Amino acid sequence: MSAIDTLPPLRQVIADHGLSARKSLGQNFLLDLNLTAKIARQAGDMTECDVLEIGPGPGGLTRGLLAEGARKVLAIEKDMRCMPALAEIATAYPDRLEVINGDALEVDPLAHLTPPIRVAANLPYNVGTELLVRWLTPKDWPPFWQSLTLMFQKEVAERIVAKPGSKTYGRLAILAQWRADAKIVMHLPPGAFTPPPKVSSAVVHLNALPEPRYPADAKVLSHVVAKAFNQRRKMLRASLKGVAPDMEDRLRAAGIEPTDRAEQIDLERFCALAREVART
Ligand code: SAM
Repeated sequence: MSAIDTLPPLRQVIADHGLSARKSLGQNFLLDLNLTAKIARQAGDMTECDVLEIGPGPGGLTRGLLAEGARKVLAIEKDMRCMPALAEIATAYPDRLEVINGDALEVDPLAHLTPPIRVAANLPYNVGTELLVRWLTPKDWPPFWQSLTLMFQKEVAERIVAKPGSKTYGRLAILAQWRADAKIVMHLPPGAFTPPPKVSSAVVHLNALPEPRYPADAKVLSHVVAKAFNQRRKMLRASLKGVAPDMEDRLRAAGIEPTDRAEQIDLERFCALAREVART
């Protein structure tokens, strides 16, 4: 295996800086730099993009992103212990890595980035889902990001790309697929990480569409879909009761039978329903 850069191997970085993995921060590190470079390549051409990386840890993916040519990486890491290791990477790639020690749920990265912007991250699963939902539901579309390349627990990745009729189809699939192309681009077994997590993982790549696939008001669509899947086994005439007057008529006008269940309804008809609900 060829080295992707001249920095020390990650096992040595971890030993030198005492970066024992902390469960409370969801720390499962990727130590194979050829693997992190491969994940970085899934983000597409980064040579003319700034890349926002959340949770760089000891810097495996960060080094992959830089070695693969990212114009600049802005990395936000909560764990102060990682700062010296990340500073060494910044020295090896002058003017291309900026690190913020903070909580990605609280820091606003936009002042530090120049478009076009791609996002890449291997994050703890709860923080990852929360950030994904935020990134998919900005006030205006197109969003600040051109693409998202994110590691998730396999089950969550499957929910993002799920199609109607499958058990994993729900709110996350609709949020993701309404305004982005989403696909699973890599599968990783637990043994790819140190320490290995209990579950398998997958990398999802999302490309932002210039505009939504079908017209709908984002808030109304989100409300209708949340209600519809809140009781996914129920017929829609029951789960959506009270969302708007004459709900059964509105369902039919959207091409949906009131006796249908949420998991049978594709994105196009959910958008039609959101338009019907928004009609006064
Ligand atoms: N990217 C590294 C890798 O692939 O080896 C580390 C991945 S590890 C699964 C997740 C990283 O996210 C850890 O370094 C952890 O400290 C960091 N982290 C956890 N919660 C965070 C938060 N709210 N904001 C920023 N970083 C966070």
